[in-house]
Amino acid sequence: MAPDFLLPTNSIVRPDKDTFLNEVNPFEGMMSRFDRAAELLDLEPGLYKVLRHPEKQIITSIPVMMDNGEVEVFQGIRVLYNTSRGPAKGGIRFDLNVTLDEVTALAAWMTWKCAVVNIPFGGAKGGVICDPLKMSVGELERLTRRYTASIISTLGPDSDVPAPDVNTNERVMAWIMDTYSMRVGHTVTAVVTGKPVEMGGSLGRREATGRGCMLVTRDALKHLGMDVKGATVAVQGFGNVGSVGAQLLQREGCKIIAISDRTGGWHDPKGIDVDAAIEYVKKHKTLEGYNKGTAVTNEELLTLEVDVLLPAALENVITTKNAAQIRAKVICEGANGPTTAAADAILDEKGIFVIPDILANAGGVTVSYFEWVQDRGGYFWTEKVVNERLEDIMVNSFAAVLNLATQHKVNMRTAAYMLSISRVATVHRLRGIYA
Ligand code: GLU
Repeated sequence: MAPDFLLPTNSIVRPDKDTFLNEVNPFEGMMSRFDRAAELLDLEPGLYKVLRHPEKQIITSIPVMMDNGEVEVFQGIRVLYNTSRGPAKGGIRFDLNVTLDEVTALAAWMTWKCAVVNIPFGGAKGGVICDPLKMSVGELERLTRRYTASIISTLGPDSDVPAPDVNTNERVMAWIMDTYSMRVGHTVTAVVTGKPVEMGGSLGRREATGRGCMLVTRDALKHLGMDVKGATVAVQGFGNVGSVGAQLLQREGCKIIAISDRTGGWHDPKGIDVDAAIEYVKKHKTLEGYNKGTAVTNEELLTLEVDVLLPAALENVITTKNAAQIRAKVICEGANGPTTAAADAILDEKGIFVIPDILANAGGVTVSYFEWVQDRGGYFWTEKVVNERLEDIMVNSFAAVLNLATQHKVNMRTAAYMLSISRVATVHRLRGIYA
């Protein structure tokens, strides 16, 4: 049988909107939300067809000389979903579960995400099927450079600008920037974002996604008439997004009562000292052995009685199997696609206020935009300016989505899709079809 990632994404045919052939296929989930919003927007059939298809999908084989002298061949993907509003923007992930459908869905989400916060980018995503935790630094560097060379035709500050995602970081971005710069013959800092600050990265970029989550959670609690001070929070995923989100929510007065990572989690109703947990993870790499409070599984953490649930790890953690058990009042989707489309209705029925991923985690790409602007202008901002501008964008975007949700009597997710699809559609109408 052909590997899953080779299946063409547009082979997915849903008999009707509420029937899912595969609940956990992220592309199918993205498409069903898109369909709902397109219908409400009364999107014309031609544009509807255009926006259901990715512009470009690259699948490439990446041979890498491993430390033991043997050659291994990895599979790499880069998808440009839509570039009508500007250069394609989106992270690159290194993970064993990467598939073409997943990367395509993530690239579409980047398109909608950039449009929700109204920054002048299209959407892209990349992935390499590998287990980076089992690879040496040298192997990772060779993999990154060869992958970069394989997709070099799309890369560039005006065409396609990668960033970190699951299991990639500033160091990986530095290798991509260097490889691209060597190929074009001069240093091009704006070809990636999320770089080390010393080489053109932006202050505040590393914290930006978590900061954005804090800002929209704060606004959601205020909107619901709930106190930010003392609000209880459970955080799934203690990487860049979850740990910073938890830390900043704690600074706002929230009580973080549970945290977890891939090794499991910890629950302490008295509150977890997030700074200490971050220090622990810096030293031990994971939360394994943290031993503060009671051990909980990732599944148990999701159903704890809390005011806010912050899923900040991977896709498909809230599904039709567990959505009915979720007791949070607010879900802030720090991860991309943590809730399956089939689970949306269950959360709605329970009256849970969901801040959808394309809004909740848009802080990262917003500061990526700031980084790209600073690189191109050669003039760098203070962290205070970065954070103030980020707050402005997140607060205004949250308000715009909430406004649309109220106006159309739809949930925040549908409103966010409506806002972004209408922005992308407007540009398509203005540009017309090149023939
Ligand atoms: N990987 C992040 C995301 O999913 C950031 C993307 C970017 O900054 O380009 O939003």
